[in-house]
Amino acid sequence: MTTIKATCPACGEVALTAEDIVLRIASVDEANSYGFSCPRCSEFIQKPADERIVHLLLTGGVRPIPVHVPAEVLEYKEGPPITHDDILAFHEGLEGERWFDELLGRKPAAPPRLGA
Ligand SMILES: [Zn+2]
Repeated sequence: MTTIKATCPACGEVALTAEDIVLRIASVDEANSYGFSCPRCSEFIQKPADERIVHLLLTGGVRPIPVHVPAEVLEYKEGPPITHDDILAFHEGLEGERWFDELLGRKPAAPPRLGA
């Protein structure tokens, strides 16, 4: 059986087998990762897996697990992070009846009336 050497941040180099390693293959290369439980300290170690590491692990007999990464994870985000105050203001805004119009910054539509 092939021995695969990996590094635990606490214990240093450890020897593993293909069955010890979880290789997650995502729809985009940047989200690929691998992980293992360190045989010395039992800590689960997870690291990104670039193309070279994926090839190395597959060659060593590691079975890949396909994972779905939501597109939102890969979206470019700009602006400051959402704060608790933002969430509170949004919550208070939702309590009004015209929250959707206010959110879009438009005047609310006139309520429907019965024709004569
Ligand atoms: Zn360790």
